[in-house]
Amino acid sequence: MQPEKYDVVVVGAGIGGLGVGALLAHSGYKTLVVEKCDFVGGRFSSYEYEGFTLPTGAVTIHYKDTETEQIFKEVGAELELIDAPTLFYRIAGKDYEMPPKGAIGTGLDIINRLEEDKAKVLGGFAKAMGKEKILGAFRSGTKEPDKEKGITFKDWLLQYTDNEMAHGIFDTIVSTLAAAHSYEISAQAVFSFFVAMKGFRDVGIPARGNRVNMENLAKAVKANGDVWTNCLAKRIVVERGRAKGIVVEKDGGEVEIEAQVVLSNVGPKATVELIGEDNFKEDYLRNLRVNLKPKPVTMVFVASDRPLWPEDGRAAILMVVGARRITSVIPLSSISPQLAPPGQHLLFAFGSPVSNEVRMDVEVEQEQILKDIKEQFPLFEKHGRVIKFDSRNVDDELPEMRTRVGIVVAVETPVKDLYNVGDGCPIMGYTGSNAAAETAVRVAGIVRKQYKPGKA
Ligand SMILES: Cc1cc2nc3c(=O)[nH]c(=O)nc-3n(C[C@H](O)[C@H](O)[C@H](O)COP(=O)(O)OP(=O)(O)OC[C@H]3O[C@@H](n4cnc5c(N)ncnc54)[C@H](O)[C@@H]3O)c2cc1C
Repeated sequence: MQPEKYDVVVVGAGIGGLGVGALLAHSGYKTLVVEKCDFVGGRFSSYEYEGFTLPTGAVTIHYKDTETEQIFKEVGAELELIDAPTLFYRIAGKDYEMPPKGAIGTGLDIINRLEEDKAKVLGGFAKAMGKEKILGAFRSGTKEPDKEKGITFKDWLLQYTDNEMAHGIFDTIVSTLAAAHSYEISAQAVFSFFVAMKGFRDVGIPARGNRVNMENLAKAVKANGDVWTNCLAKRIVVERGRAKGIVVEKDGGEVEIEAQVVLSNVGPKATVELIGEDNFKEDYLRNLRVNLKPKPVTMVFVASDRPLWPEDGRAAILMVVGARRITSVIPLSSISPQLAPPGQHLLFAFGSPVSNEVRMDVEVEQEQILKDIKEQFPLFEKHGRVIKFDSRNVDDELPEMRTRVGIVVAVETPVKDLYNVGDGCPIMGYTGSNAAAETAVRVAGIVRKQYKPGKA
C-alpha cells in the first residue's frame, strides 16, 4: 500500500502536540496528529466520572500573555477558562486572604504576627523575621536568577531566616508551582520560574474541563489535516539519519505515513524508544537520563453534599502550609458548578510526596492525604467521600511533569527532521502545560523557517 503523505506528522495529542499541529496546519502545512487514546489532550484533558468532570492533569492554567494563550488566539480556537478566584493561605490552621499582588510579603507579615502572639503567651521576645530583607533579596534573585545557581532554594532562604513557618510557606509555594520541594531545586530555578510564569497570577481554571479546549485545537488541525485518535504510533521511520515518517496501528492494520518533518509529543525518552536506542550516541542518552526528572504526584477528588471549603460555597483557592502532603486545594464546583452533578460538590487537592526523587509508595501517600483531608476539612467525615485518588509515580508514562523547573532539554534531536515537543523539553523557568505550549510555539517557528508547506 502507498504511504499516506503529509507535510507534518505529530505523534501524541497533548497540548504540545496539538498546539504545534494546530499552529502549522493554520500556517498551511498539511498536518496529521496521531493519538493512541480515544480522546485528545493527554494530561491537559478531562473525563466524566460518576457524573463529575475530572481533570487528567492540568487544572491551574497559566494563560494570560503566555504561549498557551498565543496558540489558541493564533489559530482562532476558543480557550474556556475561568479566572482563578481569591487565594488563601492556611497557616497554623487559620485561613488568610491574599492580595492579588504581594502575597509573599503578606504571608511573612502574618508569620511575624503569629510569632508575636506566641511570645505573648510564652513570655519573652518574638524573633521577628526581616521581611524587607527577605523580599529585597527575593527581588534581586528575580532580577539576576543566574547568580543563585549553586544553592537550593531552601539554603538560599536559610541565609535570611530559619523560621519554620516561613520555610513552610515557601515550600508550599515552590511545591505547588515549581513541581519540586524547596530542598530539591536551585534558587536560580525558582527565581527563573517567577520571572517566566509570574508566580500564581494570571491563572485560569477550565470551565467545563480541558477536553473541550483540546477538541477546539483539534478542529484547528482538521481545517488543514487530520487528528486520528485510537491510533498508536509503533515506530518512527529513520533512513540515513533523517526521519521520514511513522508507522501506526489503525483499524487493525499498519499504516505508513510519510512527512517532511516528524514531531514527537511522547517525551524524549519514548521518542528514542520509537526509533531504537541503538540509533543514538551514548552522550545523548546520558543527557536524557540525567536531565529528565519526572515529578510524582497524587490528586484526590472529594465529593460532598455541601461545600467542604469554603463552607459558604464561595469560589476560592487554598494553599495549605505545613500539612503532611496536601499543598493546594481547589473547590472545583464552587468555581464552575457544571463540573459536579446538581446538588453535589467537587473539591480536589494536590498531594506532594516528601521526595520527588524516588518512587513514592502510593498506598502510604494516599493514607497520608486522607489524614490531611480529615484534619483540614471538619465537614468531610459527615458530608464528604473520596471518589478517586489519582497517583502518578516517577516512572509512570504520564507523570505530573516530565522534568522539573530549572532543567533545560533541547527540542532538537540527533535525528534530522525530528523534533520533540512537550513538557520534557522546557526552557529555563518553565514547567507544566505552558512549558509544553512554549515548545509548540518554538518548534512551529523552526518548521516554518526550514520547511515549505504544500509538498504533500
Ligand atoms: C496530576 C497532574 C496535575 C497537573 N497539574 C497541572 C497544573 O495544574 N497546571 C499545569 O500547568 N500543569 C499541570 N500538570 C502538567 C501538565 O498537565 C503537563 O505538563 C502537560 O499537559 C504535558 O503536555 P505534553 O504536551 O507534554 O503531553 P502529554 O499530555 O503527555 O501528551 C502526550 C500524548 O501522547 C500520547 N502518546 C504517547 N505515546 C504515543 C504513541 N506511541 N502513539 C500515539 N500517541 C501516543 C499520549 O497518550 C498523550 O495523549 C499536571 C499533570 C498531572 C499529571
